[in-house]
Amino acid sequence: MRPNRITRSFMLSMCEVDKNTGCFNWSGSVGLKGYGQVSHRGKNKAAHRVMFLLFNGRLGKRDCVLHRCDNPGCINPDHLFAGTRGDNNKDRSRKGRSVFGDRHPLSKLDDDLAMEIYLSPLSSRAAAEKYNISKTLVKNIRNRKTWRHIHDDKSAA
Ligand SMILES: [Zn+2]
Repeated sequence: MRPNRITRSFMLSMCEVDKNTGCFNWSGSVGLKGYGQVSHRGKNKAAHRVMFLLFNGRLGKRDCVLHRCDNPGCINPDHLFAGTRGDNNKDRSRKGRSVFGDRHPLSKLDDDLAMEIYLSPLSSRAAAEKYNISKTLVKNIRNRKTWRHIHDDKSAA
């Protein structure tokens, strides 16, 4: 794949920004699962994956690009993160359970992300900025005042 042949400005010109969610909704063709598609050298590429490569850099062959925002048509690089296929499956099953779940801004954290924030070496302020949540929420996650259940996984298994 040579994403350098598809430019950032081209990709950005192909989406509409949702002011409420911050999602960049792909306005080009869309595949079966709702993912945006971009044609490159006669092949369809997943638009969100192309976008991730353009803005966030490299991906391993086995890495999947996942959505923080649960919106498969979104290509906002800030809403995308790289994960393994296993993460993708976990992600999918979690989303399967909440397919009609709300997209309330406060529900944008998920267990993996909460754990990432918990483990992150960043200061609460830096983490709050990075994950676009309040500093209080970062502190609460770290003090186990909220998202406590992410620590229970192992003992419950
Ligand atoms: Zn989004």
